[in-house]
Amino acid sequence: MRRPVVVIGGGTSGCTVAALLAATTTREIVLIESGNVSPHDDEPRFMDVISEENTPPFAMVSLLEGGIAVPYAQANVLGGGSAINGMILSGEPPASVEGLTRLAKVDEMGSVSRALLAAGGAPSRLWWNGGRWNPGRAVQHLVEEGRISLVKQDAVLLTGVSDAVHEVHTEDSVIEADHVVMCAGAIATPMLLLSSGMGAINPQIGVGLQDHPTIAFTMARRDSDRGVFDASVHLKGVTNSGGRFIVLAYERVSREVSSDALMTVSLMSPTSRGTISMLDGEVSVSMNMLSTKADIDGMRESVRELVRICNSPSVQRTTRSIVVDDRGAHLQDLEGLGDLELDQWIRGHLSFVSHASSSCSSAIDADGGLRGFANVTIADASGLPTVPSETPAASVTIEATRIGRSLGEKLA
Ligand SMILES: Cc1cc2nc3c(=O)[nH]c(=O)nc-3n(C[C@H](O)[C@H](O)[C@H](O)COP(=O)(O)OP(=O)(O)OC[C@H]3O[C@@H](n4cnc5c(N)ncnc54)[C@H](O)[C@@H]3O)c2cc1C
Repeated sequence: MRRPVVVIGGGTSGCTVAALLAATTTREIVLIESGNVSPHDDEPRFMDVISEENTPPFAMVSLLEGGIAVPYAQANVLGGGSAINGMILSGEPPASVEGLTRLAKVDEMGSVSRALLAAGGAPSRLWWNGGRWNPGRAVQHLVEEGRISLVKQDAVLLTGVSDAVHEVHTEDSVIEADHVVMCAGAIATPMLLLSSGMGAINPQIGVGLQDHPTIAFTMARRDSDRGVFDASVHLKGVTNSGGRFIVLAYERVSREVSSDALMTVSLMSPTSRGTISMLDGEVSVSMNMLSTKADIDGMRESVRELVRICNSPSVQRTTRSIVVDDRGAHLQDLEGLGDLELDQWIRGHLSFVSHASSSCSSAIDADGGLRGFANVTIADASGLPTVPSETPAASVTIEATRIGRSLGEKLA
């Protein structure tokens, strides 16, 4: 008797792959995902969704080499990041979601978004068209129809023979597997592979981790016109040193803090790479951000762009003051800094945007097959060759669709 295909993680990629395999094969499909079905797909304000849904700080991550580790949040819900994320699609939409995204309209934007628009920004395409695009919904129907079996637990260990995984262990069950598709996300996937001892066979697991280094300014707003979406305008650009950046306006800091807005800049073309590794039996996650000259230069110039945009008449008209750190330093305090001082300031205030990717990029073949293992495929953000230079959910979806189709043909 054939054993099931087991998909680990029911997020953006896992739901895409599971639904594709259900449609293109006759195989039994088991999806392991401990998160619930989200009841918030009609909520346009993603900060409300994040407050309601579980985004556990499941890993401690140091952003800079040797830096202090900070909690890294990831979705824990059917649909994963796509059920909770900011819905910004800065690049082109995947063909597979034709008609399920649309551009934000000016009358839906809050005043801070309109200020960024007036400063040269563009309306964002959103993963929204009468509701949020959430691949968890299709999976939910397939579970109700009995086509996919959902195991509502975390996978904790993979076991088998030296070149194949035959059992997936959850907290209280063991599921036999013919094929395993890893979709737990760019941090959880290598963590599970490494803690299952698979790094001894494939030492590239966990190598190549990237995210978009980010700096955020807090803005005391003059009005309470927060629009329909928390974020709906972006401004993209290229620095003199060739770094690509994106500036985003957020109408609130969080659901709880809505008197202040945020303006962020992220370096979208980082070259630095980090690692996820086992140290003394513990998994350690190091992003190693800003470890190349190109990234240091690119981030410095990106922050100067953010300062310039914040000084533009439209942004100044919308805000009473702009604070650049948690001690209340102002925009003007950054303007006088030389390159080295600004670089130092950036290292002390660096943040991330939950766009982790590429942590298994050199451990896999072109179809996501994990080298050294005959029956393990990686289809989530960890397999992307580099962190996308656009917001990443589209690239994750495109790759998961490609890998899911190719696997479906092999397994049919
Ligand atoms: C707060 C936030 C805002 C974002 N905003 C945007 C945005 O505006 N635009 C954009 O394009 N991208 C955005 N992203 C990023 C985007 O959502 C992710 O790049 C994408 O969802 C990654 O897909 P994935 O399938 O690799 O992982 P995920 O979608 O994160 O799915 C991983 C799933 O695996 C499950 N899991 C983890 N560990 C285990 C385990 N051991 N066993 C079983 N299951 C497990 C998790 O519960 C989760 O559901 C955002 C992400 C976050 C967190």
